[in-house]
Amino acid sequence: MSEDCIFCQIVDGEIPGRVVYEDDDVLAFLDANPMAPGHTLVVPKAHHETLGDLPEADGSAVFAALHRLAPLVEDAVDADASTVAFNNGEAAGQEIPHVHGHVIPRFEGDGGGP
Ligand code: 5GP
Ligand code: ZN
Repeated sequence: MSEDCIFCQIVDGEIPGRVVYEDDDVLAFLDANPMAPGHTLVVPKAHHETLGDLPEADGSAVFAALHRLAPLVEDAVDADASTVAFNNGEAAGQEIPHVHGHVIPRFEGDGGGP
């Protein structure tokens, strides 16, 4: 837990999150400013800033959750596909310094994506 980390505060229930999945190591919740309906963030419960800081076991847990969730998120909003991505470090556009994977539903011809 990092006191002033917004994602740690969501993990700890100190601020509300629209949680869609939880296990011992991972929490997934809807993005507050979605790029598409159903845009979901998947975070390790432990605070680590980048993938390079993340213990392998937490990385595996995050990937397992992404693997399970991506098709469910797509189905939930009737998407055609999804972009699954990490902004890994500030220069790559990472705004919240707590590792998080994005699952962004995609629709045929939406013209979006990284
Ligand atoms: P980044 O740019 O760091 O890869 O993505 C951060 C994401 O977190 C953005 O998509 C942004 O909309 C989302 N976000 C920022 N603050 C909050 C918050 O307080 N709650 C939730 N659910 N999402 C947030
Ligand atoms: Zn954190």
